[in-house]
Amino acid sequence: MTETHSAGASRFPADAPASEALFDRARSIIPGGVNSPVRAFQAVGGTPRFMARGAGPWLFDADGRRYVDLVSSWGPLILGHAHPEVVAAVQEAAARGTSFGTPTAGEVELAAEIVDRTPVEQVRLVNSGTEATMSAIRLARGFTGRSRIVKFAGCYHGHVDALLAAAGSGVATLGLPDSPGVTGAAASETIVLPYNDPAAVAAAFATDGDHIAAVITEAAPGNMGVVAPRDGFNQELARIAHEHGALLIVDEVMTGFRVSAGGWAGLDPVDADLFTFGKVMGGGLPAAAFGGRAEIMGRLAPAGPVYQAGTLSGNPLACAAGLATLRLADAALYRRLDELSATVGKLASDALAAAGVPHRLSYAGNMFSIFFTEADVVDYDSARTQDTAAFRAFFHAMLSAGVYLPPSAFESWFVSTALDDAALEQIAAALPAAADAAAAARTHGG
Ligand SMILES: *Cc1c(COP(=O)(O)O)cnc(C)c1O
Repeated sequence: MTETHSAGASRFPADAPASEALFDRARSIIPGGVNSPVRAFQAVGGTPRFMARGAGPWLFDADGRRYVDLVSSWGPLILGHAHPEVVAAVQEAAARGTSFGTPTAGEVELAAEIVDRTPVEQVRLVNSGTEATMSAIRLARGFTGRSRIVKFAGCYHGHVDALLAAAGSGVATLGLPDSPGVTGAAASETIVLPYNDPAAVAAAFATDGDHIAAVITEAAPGNMGVVAPRDGFNQELARIAHEHGALLIVDEVMTGFRVSAGGWAGLDPVDADLFTFGKVMGGGLPAAAFGGRAEIMGRLAPAGPVYQAGTLSGNPLACAAGLATLRLADAALYRRLDELSATVGKLASDALAAAGVPHRLSYAGNMFSIFFTEADVVDYDSARTQDTAAFRAFFHAMLSAGVYLPPSAFESWFVSTALDDAALEQIAAALPAAADAAAAARTHGG
C-alpha cells in the first residue's frame, strides 16, 4: 500500500453523519441504540461509530473512515478481522448447514483443543461467557450443596443476576449501582470482597465458610481496566476455598487463549476446580465454555442431575471459527501478541509522559490498559481514582485520528497479530495530540 498514514487531528471531520443517522434510528427501536451498553459511548460522549467492515488491523465505519482497531471485538480477534483461514472455515461450515441440533465432530474437536491447552478434564460448550459463568455457578452449587458465592468488586462475569454486584465492564463504565431487576434473594447469596486482598477472603470464610459454594474470580481482571493479581493471589484463593470445602472458579473468558496458549493458567498455574472460557475460543462467533475436573463436570445433565442446555450450543459455524483461530494460535503468535502489546503500551505511555499526564500502564500478559491516575492500581477502588475526563479527551483525539480505543477507561486494550507497520505508525502519529488533549482536559490536580 502506498497510502500515507499521517494522522493529524484534522484527518477526519469530527462528525460521523452515517453513524449519527444509524444511531438515531437505532435509538428509537433498540434501547439506547445498542445491544451491549458500553458500545453506546456514554462514558466518552459522542456518536458511536457503526462499523461496516473489518480487514486485518482495520475497522471501516459507515462513513467509510478507517481506524486501527485496539478493541478486537473486546478480545476475541487475536488474528485481526476477516483472517482468510477463519473466513474460509466459516464459509465451508456454513455451506454444510448452519445448525443441526445434534452432536457434531466439530464440537469434539473444539472441546479436545480446550482440554489439551488448559487444566480442564471435561468441557461443556455454550454460547456466551455469561452462560458459562452462570452454568459454572449452578454446577458449583449443585456439587457442594451450598448457596453462597464470593466475587470481587470490579470483576465482571457477564450479566448473571448473582454476579452483577459491584461488577466491572459496563457497570463500572456507566457508574451504575447494582442493577434493578436483580432480586434481593439473588444478591443476598453473593459476598463481594475487594480484589487482591486474601485477608478479606479468609475473613469471609471464617464467618460463612460452611455456606460458600465457590469463589469466582477473573483469572486476571480486565473489566475494571487491567489489574493483575498479586503474586500468589489466585493460589491463595484455591487454598482458602479448598480448606473450607468450597470450589474455585477461575473466569478465563477474557484471558483464555489470549494471554497464552493455555490462558492465564498457562502463565500462572492454579489449582482451580472450574474454568470458564469465551471470546477467543469462538474466533469472533458466539462460543463459550466451562470445564473442570471430570468428577465435577460429571454432575451435569445428562451424565448427572445439574441441568444445563442450549439450542445452538456447539454451533458448527462457531466451532469452525474457534478451531481455525486456535489452530493458528501457536507459541509464535503469543510471542507476537506480547511484543505488540509492549510496543503499543510504550508508545502510549511515552506520549502521555511527554505531555505530563499522570498515568499507570497496567499489564496482565498481553492485555493492558492505561489508568489516568498516579495511584497504585490494585483493585476497583484504586482503579476508580482515575481522571475519566482526561481519558475522554484522549479517546476522542485518538478516534478522530483514526485509532479505535475501548470507549471506556475501565476496559482493556486488545492487540491482534494483524497490527502491521502501517497500523503502528498511525497509532504513533495519533498519540502526541491525544496526550496533549488529555493534559488539557485533566480535572485532577497533581
Ligand atoms: C466478556 C466476559 C464475560 C461475559 O462474556 P459474554 O460473552 O459477554 O457474555 C464474562 N467474564 C469475563 C471475564 C469477561 O471478560
